[in-house]
Amino acid sequence: MDFNLTSIGSNKKVEPQHVNVLILGSGPAGLSAALYAARAELEPVVLTGMELGGQVSLTYTVENYPGFPDGVGGNELVELFQKQAERFGAKVEFDTAVEVDLSSRPFHVKTYNNEYLAETLVISTGATPTHLNVPGEKELTGRGVSYCATCDGWFFKDKDVIVVGGGDSAVEEGIFLTRYANSVSIVHRRDTLRAGAVLQSRAMENPKIKFIWNSVVEEVLGEDAVKSVRLKNLETGKTVEQQTDGVFIFIGHHPNTELFEGQLEKDDQGYLVTENWVRTSVPGVFAAGEVADPVFRQVITSAGMGAAAAMQAIHFIQEHSGEQSKNQILVDSKL
Ligand SMILES: Cc1cc2nc3c(=O)[nH]c(=O)nc-3n(C[C@H](O)[C@H](O)[C@H](O)COP(=O)(O)OP(=O)(O)OC[C@H]3O[C@@H](n4cnc5c(N)ncnc54)[C@H](O)[C@@H]3O)c2cc1C
Repeated sequence: MDFNLTSIGSNKKVEPQHVNVLILGSGPAGLSAALYAARAELEPVVLTGMELGGQVSLTYTVENYPGFPDGVGGNELVELFQKQAERFGAKVEFDTAVEVDLSSRPFHVKTYNNEYLAETLVISTGATPTHLNVPGEKELTGRGVSYCATCDGWFFKDKDVIVVGGGDSAVEEGIFLTRYANSVSIVHRRDTLRAGAVLQSRAMENPKIKFIWNSVVEEVLGEDAVKSVRLKNLETGKTVEQQTDGVFIFIGHHPNTELFEGQLEKDDQGYLVTENWVRTSVPGVFAAGEVADPVFRQVITSAGMGAAAAMQAIHFIQEHSGEQSKNQILVDSKL
């Protein structure tokens, strides 16, 4: 891959910055990797991408991360992650990787503002929401179509909204939306939810929540703002137009791995394939969090993978430089 050492948007030549550990992504995985690499005095650099703190920063409250018996705001949690990593010397840069070359080490990474030569790379670029891909969805995004209840719920005070999906995110966000909305109709393609039992009973008991079973959204209607959706009942084949002010879509995520096309092994859904939890198909490149995890997809599991990725990066650097890290962090020789 041919890199022109010219920063995007200017003709000024930039010298690539040499780093021990470059971390792509500032979600729980990336910031946990940063903490571990920083404590090994490797001065990691974290590129935040467009979403500082990652998906969890959009969440109103996290009740299943240990150490917070009363729950913690999603944003507050990742701010604490960041602060802790920075305390040990991690550098967080508001920048996004736009091109990578993993064909030789150090790995070459080009961003909007800079270029890096990285001895090791931790990929923690996470996942993004899956779209319905129906007419009107794209056109009305930001005008009633949303993928984030925490960001947009406030705009639907005393309005009627629908939520599409039947998993944890859909039900959790549906419950959250009842803080603002007059009514929340959960549209699900099956006749039972996939969400966990506690969430299900909370939703069933909530007087503002209704369920529209066996149905899918075929079209989002409206000109300047969402006015209604066309719903199709999958059992009867009948379609109806349902008035609504907002459409919140929570039908899954896809991993942010386009950048690594042809360079790293992926599974059929695009998730990075790893062995020993976080090792990718290229030695020295590690993957952590939802980018390599289609199953667990939690803050704690992503953070755990971040820690493991950094430990393996530390070990890799030790092995390849023949040096011990300055504070003699013990890394399992089996890593
Ligand atoms: C609405 C909602 C509620 C949730 N609630 C909970 C909960 O209560 N408890 C729980 O445990 N989990 C919850 N989750 C799941 C949790 O948020 C995720 O599992 C976790 O955030 C995944 O962390 P990650 O670091 O792998 O990726 P992400 O959080 O997806 O972060 C990815 C990071 O990569 C960055 N990035 C992307 N592309 C690039 C690039 N090219 N260059 C540089 N950076 C890049 C992004 O900007 C972002 O910072 C929830 C998720 C959602 C959406």
